[in-house]
Amino acid sequence: MNQFLTLLVCLIGMPTAGFLVYRLLECLMRRIDVKEEEKRKLAELNQLGECSHCGRLSRMYQRELARCSLLLSERPEGRSSLPCPHCKQEADYFPVPAALPFHDTHPDCLPLQKSEYAEYYKEKEQWAQLLYLSKPARPLMKEEGEA
Ligand SMILES: [Zn+2]
Repeated sequence: MNQFLTLLVCLIGMPTAGFLVYRLLECLMRRIDVKEEEKRKLAELNQLGECSHCGRLSRMYQRELARCSLLLSERPEGRSSLPCPHCKQEADYFPVPAALPFHDTHPDCLPLQKSEYAEYYKEKEQWAQLLYLSKPARPLMKEEGEA
């Protein structure tokens, strides 16, 4: 009887334990992946660049926000490059070869902190909504409203 129980434990218990450990590891790996993804995105948004027009430094997230506000005020067609948040010109951005300590403290190019990440996306979403609302209503939509 004892041997039978041992066999039973081996047959059922072991695979179950293995499965649980596997799920635990999977869960853990996914969490690490999410963290890595967040880190990568943050680094991308914090990419420092020197404006080809005014030479001032800015970060990617600042240029994206500048683009949102510019799109709302001018509504240009098919713009692809990002404007400089300082001179509002569409520019090329030269990569900054060496990171210097003042880059992280100068108001021109304050890095986006991890805690501000969600805030940044919220702001972008609000811009997108404003931008959409500012579009002139199409005649087709009016007809639908009347019917
Ligand atoms: Zn500039």
